[in-house]
Amino acid sequence: MIRNILVLGAGSAGLLAALSIKRKIPAVNVRIIRSPELGVIGVGEGTTPNFPRHLFDYLGISKKRFYQLAEPTWKLGIRFLWGTRKRFDYAFSHQLDAQWSDLPRPNGFYCDDDFSSIDLPTSLMRENKVFPRQPNGAPDVQPWHAFHIENEKFVNVLETIAREAGVEIIDGKVNGSERGNHGITAVHLEDGQRLEADFFVDASGFRSELLGKALEEPFISFDKNLFCDRAVIGGWERTNEPILPYTTAEAMDAGWAWQIEHEHHVNRGYVYSSQAISDDDAAHEFLTKNPKAPQQPRIVKFTSGCRRRMWVDNVVAIGNAGGFVEPLEATALMIVCSQTQTLVDFLIHTELDPTPGMRDLYNQLTHSTWIEIRDFLALHYKANRTANTPFWRHCQQDTDVSNIADLIAFYEENGPTGFCRYRMPNAQTDFGIEGYLVMLIGNQWPHRRPYKPSLQEWNIWNQHRAHLMHTAQAGLTVKESLAYIQHPGWQWNSDLAKTT
Ligand SMILES: Cc1cc2nc3c(=O)[nH]c(=O)nc-3n(C[C@H](O)[C@H](O)[C@H](O)COP(=O)(O)OP(=O)(O)OC[C@H]3O[C@@H](n4cnc5c(N)ncnc54)[C@H](O)[C@@H]3O)c2cc1C
Repeated sequence: MIRNILVLGAGSAGLLAALSIKRKIPAVNVRIIRSPELGVIGVGEGTTPNFPRHLFDYLGISKKRFYQLAEPTWKLGIRFLWGTRKRFDYAFSHQLDAQWSDLPRPNGFYCDDDFSSIDLPTSLMRENKVFPRQPNGAPDVQPWHAFHIENEKFVNVLETIAREAGVEIIDGKVNGSERGNHGITAVHLEDGQRLEADFFVDASGFRSELLGKALEEPFISFDKNLFCDRAVIGGWERTNEPILPYTTAEAMDAGWAWQIEHEHHVNRGYVYSSQAISDDDAAHEFLTKNPKAPQQPRIVKFTSGCRRRMWVDNVVAIGNAGGFVEPLEATALMIVCSQTQTLVDFLIHTELDPTPGMRDLYNQLTHSTWIEIRDFLALHYKANRTANTPFWRHCQQDTDVSNIADLIAFYEENGPTGFCRYRMPNAQTDFGIEGYLVMLIGNQWPHRRPYKPSLQEWNIWNQHRAHLMHTAQAGLTVKESLAYIQHPGWQWNSDLAKTT
């Protein structure tokens, strides 16, 4: 029976895991051990919609307080400057796996040429607006958004809320552990302390101190699917740039660059393959494109892949300690939230005495999530058919997407039908069939069912789009919406009756 949980690491993964466990299972004693000397990775600023849902719906954090302390901005999706179209938008909504009741085909069949403003979120993205306007002029804050959030501010907010919830945070550096019959029994700190627990959450980032180092759980590399292994990072204080309501992902010579929008700061980074370009050349390409970035940008190295199992004996890894993929779809915090919820469910369901069968099931579920994300990201590379550098030619030819070959073959045979969902992997991510369809249609992946709508159908289609664009044009920008929600009188309905 688990009574004492020790979380190793106080990055966003460790803090989110500790807070979630304590909130949902208050009887358990939760402590965090973290090394101020090692610090946190300090990147990780784009999210998916399950992130605000986790904070507000699952953890019950007050929106008013969170917005005040963490200062997030809203992300409606990703703008890809990528592929044969040069530009397409992927919103967290149902733009393609949807159909107007007065048209005979799903939306995807009308997007061969123009793939923009398909639904309200993509129309808002096109108009640089974030939310539609209510009759009283205020933003109608919709649930189909994620956040852009500064990592340092986020970690500080989580630390405050975790302490208030009763999580103890201890400073110290772990330099060893003790093993017993059921896993790890204690960790040793550099200052000589020994901390015991019944259950350990390894959130030590890339160091993977417990699952990787102590228990030696093998690492499965994704190097056949994802070739990038480094990032140049550099941002600048915002001057007159508009705050865009989306993340930008832009193809570069040997990878791609993100742009993440904070209220006062623009965050840029170039994810690249060290096999295809040197650090110096990547930094040069990055700085040429972003002259406002600092002249000595930071370089972060990473390896894409995950541990074979996330839960071994009495150790569960959350965050980068369990696995990592590049931030092309900002999946890391999404996985942290979903795996934390699954872990909490399993602990509650087994009355804090998890069985081997539940542990195996957890490993099966979490592994399939990692594999789905790997394959989804791999498709981004495979599908970019502009292939004008050796890196992109290599991606087009050699990216392994064999795991989703059935889905691709079905799409090629049948076109952008929602029935593709029955050929896709079955994992719990925010993407689903919509993500695959956006990537295939956005990149004009060829299929054998081109559809020629009648003139009347085009008229109906264009009327719908005109209406959406009209609503979007009347919407509010991020800056205007922030002014509303930062006003002292602004009330979030979901905060009424909450105290956090
Ligand atoms: C280039 C890049 C861009 C990214 N962009 C995104 C993004 O847009 N969206 C997203 O969701 N994610 C992104 N990520 C992932 C992001 O880094 C993680 O989601 C997130 O920060 C979680 O990190 P973590 O808590 O697992 O690890 P860390 O932040 O590294 O925290 C590890 C913790 O463990 C502690 N620790 C380690 N070893 C010891 C020890 N021996 N003793 C004591 N304490 C120890 C450290 O002190 C620290 O507190 C990105 C990552 C990279 C590399």
